[in-house]
Amino acid sequence: MTVLKKAKLLTLSAAKSLGVLGALRRSEWRQNQLLILAYHGVSQDDEHLWHPELFVTPECFARRMQALKQYGCNVLPLNEALEMLWSRTLPPCSVVLTFDDGGCDFYRQTFPILRQYGFPATVYLASYYSCYNRPVFPCMCSYLLWKGRDRVLDVTGITQGSKQFALTTPAARERACQAIQLFAREAKLSAEQKDDLLNMIAERLDVDYETILAKRILHLLSEAELAELGAAGVDIQLHTHRHYAPKTREFFIAELEENRDVIVRHTKVPHHFSYPNGLYEQHLDEWLGSFEVFSATTTEPGLVTKTSNHYKLPRLCDTSFLELIELEGWVSGFSKFLPRKRTAVSQQVPPFYY
Ligand SMILES: [Zn+2]
Repeated sequence: MTVLKKAKLLTLSAAKSLGVLGALRRSEWRQNQLLILAYHGVSQDDEHLWHPELFVTPECFARRMQALKQYGCNVLPLNEALEMLWSRTLPPCSVVLTFDDGGCDFYRQTFPILRQYGFPATVYLASYYSCYNRPVFPCMCSYLLWKGRDRVLDVTGITQGSKQFALTTPAARERACQAIQLFAREAKLSAEQKDDLLNMIAERLDVDYETILAKRILHLLSEAELAELGAAGVDIQLHTHRHYAPKTREFFIAELEENRDVIVRHTKVPHHFSYPNGLYEQHLDEWLGSFEVFSATTTEPGLVTKTSNHYKLPRLCDTSFLELIELEGWVSGFSKFLPRKRTAVSQQVPPFYY
């Protein structure tokens, strides 16, 4: 744990015991702000051990929801919360729950917990792997290498050239993963060919891939699941089709169109967006506005106020590394005033390119 984090935890504990956090939660100051929480996945198996920033355990997620209830938070649907914020009619201690990418674990793990608490939620769906409902290639590649971390991967015959990767350290696995992805990109492999590549990697590493596939680890929501969730009131919103924001207007709008086409097949027209990998760029404000997008969220931690740029709304990413008291600090608004180590956005949310 860093010195800064230790100091923050001590400050938060002191603020809590002095009643500051509780008082702020109930304050008029906090009432005019909105905390948007961002999650990625809730583990079906050991995904949180592979990637503790992307996945939390179901127990951890349930504890967070219990805490929100205990703090007296008003958990609101995204659209309603933003309209209330902009018209200064928010109830006290408002919170919105958002889930990026649309993993099938949302259907299997997260939604049943949300239902217990009666909490509404927004899923920002990257739709490509909902339509082609196989494992998300870069993520599964990384997961398989982690599963085979006590082995050496020989890529002779499956990628170009012959090379061996010892997979013992995270840095070595990252190098192997990058090399495989680079090969797939340069060889312009189709989705099916990338899927075959995953099979070959699993075989070489002697990983039980059948079981992983049967559990639908690192799969996104199927179209049938999307329809069911939409009918049950889950709000499905935009996150681009291929989890990527092209640099030209034409291709960016095309990504949004493909994304929206999938969503409207199953539920209502989406008007909200979250940036793939949290990467905000100012010129996107106008492009999103022209596509009738009313709001866009980043992964920059903070609380939204009436004056926040509608296309740069801060969100707190809740991960396995966040202590419960840190969440409490953000719920109260107190953590806005604590110093933060500035990290590059790409470090906050790991890349997830298709
Ligand atoms: Zn994402």
